[in-house]
Amino acid sequence: MRGEPPGAAGLCAGTVCVAHSHKGPYYLRFNTPGIAFAPVISLLPICAWGFRCMKWSWRMGSLLGVGIYVHWTFLLLIGWYLYMQLSQGASTLEAAQGIGFLFAVFGCVVLHELGHATAARQFGIKTRDITLLPIGGLARLERMPEDPKQELWVALAGPLVNVAIVAVLAPLLWLLPDLRTWGRLPFFGGFSFLGYLTLVNVILVAFNLIPAFPMDGGRVLRALLAWITGDYVRATQAAATIGQGVAILFGLAGLLTGNFMLVFVALFVFLGAQEEARMVQMRSAFRGVPVRQATMTRFHALRPDDPLSVAVTELLAGAQQDFPVVDDGQIVGVLRRGDLLKALAEGRHDALVGDVARRDCTVAEEGEMLDDALRRMRENDCPAVPVVRNGQLVGMISLDNIGELVMIQSALGQARRGR
Ligand SMILES: [Zn+2]
Repeated sequence: MRGEPPGAAGLCAGTVCVAHSHKGPYYLRFNTPGIAFAPVISLLPICAWGFRCMKWSWRMGSLLGVGIYVHWTFLLLIGWYLYMQLSQGASTLEAAQGIGFLFAVFGCVVLHELGHATAARQFGIKTRDITLLPIGGLARLERMPEDPKQELWVALAGPLVNVAIVAVLAPLLWLLPDLRTWGRLPFFGGFSFLGYLTLVNVILVAFNLIPAFPMDGGRVLRALLAWITGDYVRATQAAATIGQGVAILFGLAGLLTGNFMLVFVALFVFLGAQEEARMVQMRSAFRGVPVRQATMTRFHALRPDDPLSVAVTELLAGAQQDFPVVDDGQIVGVLRRGDLLKALAEGRHDALVGDVARRDCTVAEEGEMLDDALRRMRENDCPAVPVVRNGQLVGMISLDNIGELVMIQSALGQARRGR
């Protein structure tokens, strides 16, 4: 099990943030034409890069150095699928075959995500993890490439994996007639196991290439627009607007046909597009702004040998949530509120600040550009870092502070426009 990734709170650590709304019960509303296409519809292959609130996921292992997790709602999908098949008169063997098919589809989704991860690695970008949800897979890249050519390649790499799977399966089915009948089940609409898997991969490609954030097609569109116009921010806004237009069409179609899964997907796409536009706008707002401007200069520092009770007193006494830990003028780490509370909840009352503080966060130079510091904070999953001038601690920056700076800048911008 793992909890919410550190750094995902406040400002999102990933590139896409959507509301925590993947609960799963909407699957039960399906009454689409027979069960034959149910797996396809229930697996609308939304593929987004970065997600927050990924609580309650199990680690299944790792592939190509990337941790693979399964979200607990996935169990609902399996349970629902089993129930649907058995209630339609499937034998135990047929139901097991159906579940086997479900796993095969998700295997293809994992390969799709690994396609993104592998392409990203070519550009020096690590993938934190891949999580399987009932609606598809999510790969959390530590950042997105800003070079449009790189983004285009990373975005296309996922669907290309599914194209490759089709390119392997289709000739096999053509050459080996036995495969065309193997595993033929009433639930597959007359398709064989591999025939249906091929079809699902074709749908995975088509759906993911719909030009709407947070799907791959939205990123392809943004990359192409940015490449042509040379303006990343405007390209993102245009792609986000198109994405939201597509989302509204999905939502209307879902409402008119009573397909609530489609309404949910529409909401996911709409919020994803909005979030992407917001993140890019924020990043562009920071360009040319030094760390100094967002630095919290009134702060308390702790010592590594302070007991946690001192940290608790400081936490309650003011608005500061994260504390630099300094030993003899040397910065040794950062004590975050979340880590402090976790240690208290685990009964580690006797622990010292130095035992609980994070030591893997880098510092920010007062004069460096905020977007560089922010990028590093995201990469290292550090939502708060000490700020130094000539090696001396002068303050802290946190995602909360940066968020405040954004609010102030946007208020000033509104005032300027209003004049
Ligand atoms: Zn994808």
